[in-house]
Amino acid sequence: MLDSPEFHRAARIRGLEISEIVQISERAAARKALGHDVVALSTGEPDFPTPEAVIAAAHKAATDGKTRYTPTLGTAELRAAIAADAKARPDQVIVSCGAKQVIANAMLATLEAGDEVVMPAPFWTSYADIVRMAGGSPVIVSCAMADGFKLTPAALEAALTPRTRWLMLNAPSNPSGAIYSPAELSALEAVLLRHPQVWVLSDEIYEHLNFIPFHRLADVAPDLRGRLLTVNGVSKAWSMTGWRIGWGIGPVDLIRAMGAVQGQVTSGACSIAQAAATAALTGGTEVLDVRRDAMRARRDLVVSALDAMPGIECAAPDGAFYVFPRITGAMQAQGHATDAAFCDWLLAEHDLALVPGRAFGLPGHLRLSFAYAESELQTGLDRLARALNGDT
Ligand code: PMP
Repeated sequence: MLDSPEFHRAARIRGLEISEIVQISERAAARKALGHDVVALSTGEPDFPTPEAVIAAAHKAATDGKTRYTPTLGTAELRAAIAADAKARPDQVIVSCGAKQVIANAMLATLEAGDEVVMPAPFWTSYADIVRMAGGSPVIVSCAMADGFKLTPAALEAALTPRTRWLMLNAPSNPSGAIYSPAELSALEAVLLRHPQVWVLSDEIYEHLNFIPFHRLADVAPDLRGRLLTVNGVSKAWSMTGWRIGWGIGPVDLIRAMGAVQGQVTSGACSIAQAAATAALTGGTEVLDVRRDAMRARRDLVVSALDAMPGIECAAPDGAFYVFPRITGAMQAQGHATDAAFCDWLLAEHDLALVPGRAFGLPGHLRLSFAYAESELQTGLDRLARALNGDT
């Protein structure tokens, strides 16, 4: 490999690294390649295959010649399907390469240097880095486990300043699984109505992975619609992480600005993947119901096992496919000062990959993804139990 002593990293991305979740998964894969029998419960990716009808639609799109650039904001078919699903208009929709690019487009399209973006912690790791990359400042508001890891109206009010441009909400939440009730959303709406400069990004990518009723913010808080960007996509519910299709729904001026960014970065999402996503979105909810039930069974297995372990307190998540237990007791008992050191130890000594809470802005916890087969979950849980009991 050539060294480049002259290499200059732009100030904009100084300190930016590959996401900690990806780093841990890569370290686990590297250990596996060395012959270790690693169990990695670290990735936010369902183990189910993409539904067959979706793959058939992609195949058909390819053989039908849908192999060319699509309009920057997405194909007419997919935008129409998203708009119908969201009770919006197609011109209020942008399709991007995954929900992640929707969020990046929005931040790049709107943030001035130093603008503040409020994010309740625990939050998905990339939020803070995307905001920094776009020149903004993340304002992290810790949410207590006793409050179900949810943002309270008082904490929101206290975090808002004249520089606040966005509030980022995510439910069902990665990593806590929290879902807000309509009353809780209305209480947050009441605060936001007093602060008209604040826009809201509602990341609903885990919408169909819910174990209690889930309510879209756009439905519960119609008065926010003029400054609301809803983010969603096919990655999680339809097991389509590799297809890279996500979308945003919001006011036309915002969508156009996001399209201007996207047009200079990717030109738009993959034509074949957009045809596949159209089939997913219009293909009925049967497959989603079956997968949700499977996830619920996995959740129950993981929560009861974890909560019985010494030094670990685990609440049952209401959605998504993660648990986010508090591990401070276990850290102390094993002599680890940080959750990162605890997770390093689990990987190095017990071949178990989990993500420390600090990656989500809330240290003293860890995230375990239960989007894996029950046998793999059981092996991972056994290893954790043995580690905490001092067995090797
Ligand atoms: N938002 C949240 C909360 C996520 O957990 C993820 C994926 N881990 C994304 C967005 C990004 O989804 P996509 O793969 O569609 O870019």
